[in-house]
Amino acid sequence: MFSVETAASAAYIVAALLFILALAGLSKHETAKVGNYFGIAGMAVALVATVALAIERDVEVLGLVLLLVATAIGASIGLWRARVVEMTGMPELIALLHSFVGLAAVLVGWNGYLHVERHPGGDEAQVLALQDLLGIHSAEVFIGVFIGAVTFTGSIVANLKLSARIKSSPLVLPGKNLLNLGALGAFAALTVWFVIHPQLWLLVVVTILALALGWHLVASIGGGDMPVVVSMLNSYSGWAAAASGFLLENDLLIITGALVGSSGAYLSYIMCKAMNRSFISVIAGGFGIEAGPASDTDYGEHREVTAQEVAELLGAADSVIITPGYGMAVAQAQHGVAELTRKLRDRGVDVRFGIHPVAGRLPGHMNVLLAEAKVPYDIVLEMDEINDDFDDTAVVLVIGANDTVNPAAMDDPTSPIAGMPVLTVWNADNVIVFKRSMASGYAGVQNPLFFRENSAMLFGDAKDRVEDILHAL
Ligand code: NDP
Repeated sequence: MFSVETAASAAYIVAALLFILALAGLSKHETAKVGNYFGIAGMAVALVATVALAIERDVEVLGLVLLLVATAIGASIGLWRARVVEMTGMPELIALLHSFVGLAAVLVGWNGYLHVERHPGGDEAQVLALQDLLGIHSAEVFIGVFIGAVTFTGSIVANLKLSARIKSSPLVLPGKNLLNLGALGAFAALTVWFVIHPQLWLLVVVTILALALGWHLVASIGGGDMPVVVSMLNSYSGWAAAASGFLLENDLLIITGALVGSSGAYLSYIMCKAMNRSFISVIAGGFGIEAGPASDTDYGEHREVTAQEVAELLGAADSVIITPGYGMAVAQAQHGVAELTRKLRDRGVDVRFGIHPVAGRLPGHMNVLLAEAKVPYDIVLEMDEINDDFDDTAVVLVIGANDTVNPAAMDDPTSPIAGMPVLTVWNADNVIVFKRSMASGYAGVQNPLFFRENSAMLFGDAKDRVEDILHAL
């Protein structure tokens, strides 16, 4: 027989399938848009089913009104932010959204405690006690609050670092690994205690402990590793949502949380491999990374060129590789770069792009910008595909990139980005670096590339300088 409960369960399965299709779609940029539509449809189905269930379960009118008002406010803010956010501001927005998931998990956990453990005479607590499930409920509350609070503060630090409101360099407290391990040990012991004897003060302590741990874990990770941190927090937010799903007995939340948690973890793992980083070291808050000596190396003098000189160099070149970075996105120089590419190709110059896996501020950032400017896909190559070709290249244009072309990652074992694979642009005959000053990149380290004999700096906004070159050509 038809009941709202069965229909809602069916709707949840449909929504879960739509979320899986969304993830599958998001794995390739050709299908990413469709993937997003699946995600939107899944979320719409889930929302309608949840509201229908609430009505069926005789939720008070006030509760329902509050639910709808909260949904309307949340949706309006979400739409507004999504419309105004710059592509370069995406990772910090995502980090902020993760912090909301974390906070929600903490609130759901606290709510569970106040309804059940704190209220032993209440219906819910008595039913659970009769079924011998009270201990499991307490464990769910405690673990949910812990993961949620770690995600909450961790994501806030990530947001502050990505938006440059705090420094991106790693915080190195004395004995930081011991602090993290100690916090985990304390959490395990407190969980056992809480399950045996649930008390308010234990929940307060674990909340504070987890808030501090989340802050410390992300504060300890250096700028160069931030891409991994963003996907790691994505994973944490998934597990936090799954923990809430157990507490709220909502299967869809458990499935969705697990999907986000495991895909985020896998993405972090692939990124760690691509960047030659230890996965364990990054998720353990920079485990094993100690403070390096302050770098005050004198690399000598740098050389400057004008747009006119670069145009002449390009006019005489037979092969050019362009390696874009975050600065191209900031300057919105991609259209000029695409125009320059067309002009040079029309003159018979072999022009290609070399894309570093973490160039910009989110994976695939450069590919999206170049596709938007209609640069043909077949000349946009990944770092591994192009790294051997710099030797035979006349001119490399480094447009607003810095850490991703830093030779110190290969030559200097004490560098904070040591071991990270980089585009070996310095092997080309001439390297032209487009940037506004001698300032360092996101990881906060100086780049010896700028001082090499075959390198020259073209200072100024990347978009203006590209236009100048176009005029000169
Ligand atoms: P970097 O941040 O290393 O360097 C960008 C350079 O662009 C800066 O040195 C800056 O120099 C220059 N720049 C900024 N604005 C302009 C402008 N308007 N015109 C010209 N130049 C400009 O970028 P990369 O792309 O090389 O490296 C990415 C970094 O970001 C890595 O450290 C990576 O780990 C990190 N990261 C990557 C994420 C990802 O998922 N891809 C996520 C989070 C962080 P100046 O100020 O002198 O102009």
